[in-house]
Amino acid sequence: MILVSMTEPKMEKIMTAQIIDGKLIAAQVRENVAAEVAKRTAEGKAKPVLATVLIGDRVDSAAYVSAKGKACLELGMGSINQHLPADISQEELEKVIRDLNADPAVNGILVQLPLPEHLNEERVLQLISIEKDVDGFSPINIGRLAQKGREPVFVPCTPGGCIYLLEQAGVKIEGANAVVLGRSNIVGMPAALLLIGKNATVTVCHSRTKNLESVVRQADILIAAIGKTQMVRGSWIKPGAAVIDVGINSIPDASKKSGHRLVGDVNFDEAKEVAGFITPVPGGVGPMTIAMLMKNTLRAAQIQQGE
Ligand code: NDP
Repeated sequence: MILVSMTEPKMEKIMTAQIIDGKLIAAQVRENVAAEVAKRTAEGKAKPVLATVLIGDRVDSAAYVSAKGKACLELGMGSINQHLPADISQEELEKVIRDLNADPAVNGILVQLPLPEHLNEERVLQLISIEKDVDGFSPINIGRLAQKGREPVFVPCTPGGCIYLLEQAGVKIEGANAVVLGRSNIVGMPAALLLIGKNATVTVCHSRTKNLESVVRQADILIAAIGKTQMVRGSWIKPGAAVIDVGINSIPDASKKSGHRLVGDVNFDEAKEVAGFITPVPGGVGPMTIAMLMKNTLRAAQIQQGE
């Protein structure tokens, strides 16, 4: 943002956005969860346990599941992983979910998405007990999120993380014009519902939205979740806006040992000169997803123990 003073002598001041440090905020969430878990176990209560269900051998899914299990251990929680073959039948998978629902030692159940093509995701998510649905994707949780005056038991982790970052940064959501880029079940749509619940005026954009740039320019709050490398340019951003970049895209970078680096859906270098607040990629929304999952798993244990 460039502010030019109207009085003589002319002063030019370059202002850059406040960077919302997702790594730091996620670490604080995790610390709080770890402290609460330690307190509970010291009182003789069972530690919260997350069950992850991984189907098939997708490398990215395996990495996400492993990171979730590792986080559980770091925070003093328990974790079990059901690694099932890619060709598992719908019936066999549903039995696994039913068994986890019935297991009193399991507090949270997370089925790593996407599922192999032949499996019916809707039926699987529908089966997860609402009190164990720590990913927040069961139709009951999403339905409650979409209804006025109802509360979901669990808020989906990535969109919940976006809202948490805005709140921690002190961004006023109520009354703000919020624009969400993307309408997926896991990010865009629940993020829009959460913003509506916080009294923002929300516009949801998708691949068939016309004049995207001019819609984005109206946003006091922008949540970008489209998976398109640095598509949102600095010139699209309203000066002072809060920009939450969910996108994770890999681009070639010869200076890195791996030969690539991660960037978001927003051109960070341009946008940070215009926005009031912005999340970096990596180190913005990414770390929040697991932190919110850990928070949800602790909450699941509390709910199941009648607290
Ligand atoms: P999906 O592919 O499921 O959804 C993408 C959405 O963006 C769709 O609604 C699509 O529209 C819309 N879209 C695609 N192209 C355009 C365009 N040119 N203009 C406007 N809208 C467009 O992605 P996800 O929601 O799963 O993920 C989005 C991004 O967030 C990805 O980069 C993903 O890696 C990242 N992500 C990050 C997480 C984290 O922890 N930080 C967690 C989850 C995702 P339509 O509906 O019309 O097809």
